[in-house]
Amino acid sequence: MPNSTAISPLTLKRMSALIAENSISSILPEYDQSNEGVINLLASWCNDLGFDVSIMPIDDQPGKFNLLATYGQGSGGLVLSGHTDTVPCNPEKWTSDPFTLTERDGKLYGLGTCDMKGFFALALEAIEQVKHQTFHQPLMILATADEECSMSGARALSKQTGPNGRYAVVGEPSSLRPVRMHKGIIMDSIRVTGRSGHSSNPALGINAMDAVHDVMGELKALRLDLAERYQDAHFAVQTPTLNLGCIHGGDNPNRICGSCELAYDLRALPGMSNDDLREEIRRRMNPIAAQNQVELSFEQLFSGVEPFAESEHSELIKEAERLTGATSVAVNYATEAPFLQSLGMETVVLGPGNIDQAHQIDEYLALDQIEPCVNIVRNLIERFCLTKQD
Ligand SMILES: [Zn+2]
Repeated sequence: MPNSTAISPLTLKRMSALIAENSISSILPEYDQSNEGVINLLASWCNDLGFDVSIMPIDDQPGKFNLLATYGQGSGGLVLSGHTDTVPCNPEKWTSDPFTLTERDGKLYGLGTCDMKGFFALALEAIEQVKHQTFHQPLMILATADEECSMSGARALSKQTGPNGRYAVVGEPSSLRPVRMHKGIIMDSIRVTGRSGHSSNPALGINAMDAVHDVMGELKALRLDLAERYQDAHFAVQTPTLNLGCIHGGDNPNRICGSCELAYDLRALPGMSNDDLREEIRRRMNPIAAQNQVELSFEQLFSGVEPFAESEHSELIKEAERLTGATSVAVNYATEAPFLQSLGMETVVLGPGNIDQAHQIDEYLALDQIEPCVNIVRNLIERFCLTKQD
C-alpha cells in the first residue's frame, strides 16, 4: 500500500480496499460483477461511524445493491452520492494492477480511483473530522449500483426509501469544479422489417435497407430542426446532437435486404424531454413505414438519462462556487444528478479527479486533489448539516 503524506493512513487504507473490490458493471455478462463487496465495505465503515445503514437490492438484478447511510436526525440535510461500479478495464495494458492502489508521481493509480470509488474514501475522511459535532440536519451517504451501464441503481431510488435530503452532491470527477448542467442521453434503435427475395426482381421482396435510407434522412432532418430550435451557450457543443451510430442489415448483395436496424444516440439540452423526443421520432417515422410498406419497431438500448440543469441561484450552487472559487459549468458527460434532482433535491456534480482520466487505462486520482476535496466536503457538511437551516 502507498504511504503518501497527502492522505491519512485510514483514508488510504479505505481507498485501497475499495479499489481491490472488483465492481465492474457491464452489459456483457462475462464482465459484469456484483457490487456487494464495495457496498459491504461502505456499510461497515458507516456503521462504525454511527450511521443508520440500509442496503437495498435492485429488482431483477441479483448481486446489485444501493446503500443509504444516514447520520443524524430530522429533515433536510445533505446527500453525498456516488456510484459503486466501474467500467471494465484491460489489466494487461495497465502499468500496475488496476485492483491494487499504487502511488507513482504524485498520483494514486487504480480502477475507480477517480471514477469514482475514491470519492467515498474522501467523503468519509471529511466526516471523521466533524463527527463529534452536533448535526442539526442529517448527512446521508448514497452509493448506487450500475451507473456505468444502465443507471438501474439511480433509477430504483424513486421506488426505494429515500434519500430525502435537501441538497445532493454527486462526487463524479469534475476537477473540483461545480457542474450544474449536462445534456441527456438517449440510445435507441429502429428496426425495419421488409421481406427478402432474389435480387433479380425487386417485386419479390421489400427492401428494408431502402427504407432505412429514408429513416436516416428523416433523422438527419430532425437533427437540423433540433439545432435550429434549441441552443444553449453554456455548452461547448451548443445544440442537441443526434449521432447515427451503427447499422446492421442484410446478408448478401444478391438478396433483397429483409431486415435492417439502425441505432443512434441523441443528447438533449436542459429544457428538452426524452419522452417528447421519442414521441417526435415515432411521429416522423410513421409515414416512412407506410410509404415503404415496412414494419418499424423502436427499442431503447437503455432507459436513458434526462438532461440536467440546476439553477445558478440555488443555495447549493452558490455555496459550491464559493468553496471552490470556481464558476459552475456545463459538461459533456451525463451523471445520476437528474435522478437525485427528481427526488426534490438541489443537486450539484462536484468531485475529485479529472473526467479525462475516467474510463482510461492507468486511471488515477492526483494526490493534490485530495486535501482540497476533503476540505470542500467538510465545509459543505458544516454549512448544510451543522448550521441550523430555516
Ligand atoms: Zn462515474
